[in-house]
Amino acid sequence: MTNQRLSDLFEQMADIMEILDEDRFRIATYRKVARAIADCPQDVAQLAAQGRPIELAGVGKSSLQKIHEFVHHGAVQAHQDLLGRIPPGLLELLNIPGFGPKSAAAVWKHLKVETLADLQRVIEDKSLETLAGFGPKKAESIARGIQFLAAAGHRIRLAEALALADLIVGQLRTCPGLQEIEVAGSLRRGCETVGDIDLLAQAADGGKILEAFTRLPGVQRVLGAGPTKASIQFAWPEICNEIVQVDLRIVPAESFGAAWQYFTGSKYHNVKLREIAAQKHLKLNEYGLFAAGTSAEKSSAKKPSAAAKSLAGRTERQIYQKLGLAYIAPTLREDRGEIERAQKNKLPLIVELKDIQGDLHMHSPASDGRHEVAQLVEAARRLGYHYIAISDHSQSSAIANGLDAKRLRASIDAVRTLNESLKRFTVLISSEVDILMDGSLDYPDEVLAELDFVIASVHSGLTGPRQRNTSRLLKAMDNPYVNCIGHPTGRMIHVREPMDLDMELILHRAAETHTAMEVSASPLRLDLNDIHCRQAIDAGVKLVINTDAHDTHGLGQMSYGVATAQRGWATKADVLNAQPLRAVRAWVRQKRPR
Ligand SMILES: [Zn+2]
Ligand SMILES: [Zn+2]
Repeated sequence: MTNQRLSDLFEQMADIMEILDEDRFRIATYRKVARAIADCPQDVAQLAAQGRPIELAGVGKSSLQKIHEFVHHGAVQAHQDLLGRIPPGLLELLNIPGFGPKSAAAVWKHLKVETLADLQRVIEDKSLETLAGFGPKKAESIARGIQFLAAAGHRIRLAEALALADLIVGQLRTCPGLQEIEVAGSLRRGCETVGDIDLLAQAADGGKILEAFTRLPGVQRVLGAGPTKASIQFAWPEICNEIVQVDLRIVPAESFGAAWQYFTGSKYHNVKLREIAAQKHLKLNEYGLFAAGTSAEKSSAKKPSAAAKSLAGRTERQIYQKLGLAYIAPTLREDRGEIERAQKNKLPLIVELKDIQGDLHMHSPASDGRHEVAQLVEAARRLGYHYIAISDHSQSSAIANGLDAKRLRASIDAVRTLNESLKRFTVLISSEVDILMDGSLDYPDEVLAELDFVIASVHSGLTGPRQRNTSRLLKAMDNPYVNCIGHPTGRMIHVREPMDLDMELILHRAAETHTAMEVSASPLRLDLNDIHCRQAIDAGVKLVINTDAHDTHGLGQMSYGVATAQRGWATKADVLNAQPLRAVRAWVRQKRPR
């Protein structure tokens, strides 16, 4: 649980020492220790507390001493000393993408920048761009980085929010008397980031559940606790570094569906539902659906008196039904046309996790994957899949140990041999081939022709101008062997901005060339995002929802991609890997020269 915190501490010591221009061997050592702790599967602090040996590569005696110090005193003197030597606001600057300790040292030393506000000032008065090593271009990119940071706010990524919610719900489920507990809010709608976590519960004795909630391990602060609601600040560093607000409401059974609907939102969806209710002379709120003019409406308190008779409220379905609407799945509730469709009973039949037949993007140890193909097959079988594609990196991705044509051929042979021994399961041989700067591909066509499925991805030069980025993708799609564009915009949530692309042009060409667009299910990517998914479907483009797994655990992240595709209104027919293998093969054949 504290591995991350310990690792961050060593990383921060290295950062500060780098700002102070101290011995670079010690800096490198601290960074190595930080990584070793972060990668260690055991809880290092726990080992230390129990007096058990800690065996981490590159961790020497003095670092071990610091780990023990942290476990026993909750702080490390050397870290405290370093903190005392720099202005406290300086470390915040390191969160700006592309702004490292050397930059921080330079602006501190030469421009007396000590805070984010100071940095913004020297960008505005242009003194930053005159500083050696900066220049107008870098200053502009830093300004964008600051904006990006501000926009990211304190929202946490979907996968982390779900993991935190699962942890909390799992513990509350053990409370006696709990009858039902559900997640609401943007988390239930599958939004890519989540501001806070909303939970609803129904219980014989709500007070007991709320009390247990405010005393959960991980509670940093109780923000408020009343008879039917409590709010906490919760942290669980093993899952996520942020502190998250979690609200729990206790709701009676007769209005559970109404509350669940209300607190799931979105705000805009709910506004429209209330308008529809009003047109029918009804009133909708978190307690239920009521006839307008009953005491529910007249009462100054929002909560209806016993006299107000609820027309619906026990389930969400009842509410939608009484409003004359088909049931709307939570991932669609954004007021993006779903209500009008529900009125005509013409909602899209959105793709579901159970529809997924295979995963067409994953890495084996031949490039940068951690598990052997046979292990990936096993894991995919457990998920109920019928096929996977092994898509290792191509030669230009040197950092990811990309394969040259010779190593790729060896991979092809190995996969073909493995396939002969498999029953009712197929491993396709693929490649995640790099799209080079000029839009050409990292393998010649005769190599690509040997593959069953080709993903083309951009891994470098993502910050280029729109026109160049766009033409790179257009040219790649024109290649008859390219079946899919991998993680099309290259964005990483809270880490890296998307490439500047003319998405309309790209999607038009994708439809024309029979090239699918990937929805990367990797929680950091979710790329295409929901908006672009919808745009792709409207343009007649097929989607492929892939995990881009680098180990068997990664294969289990498909649900995040499915949620994103659902939010983009994708049906089963829109998703290539929701089809049987022969349909995938036919799709590939359609584009290839005969
Ligand atoms: Zn990639
Ligand atoms: Zn990949």
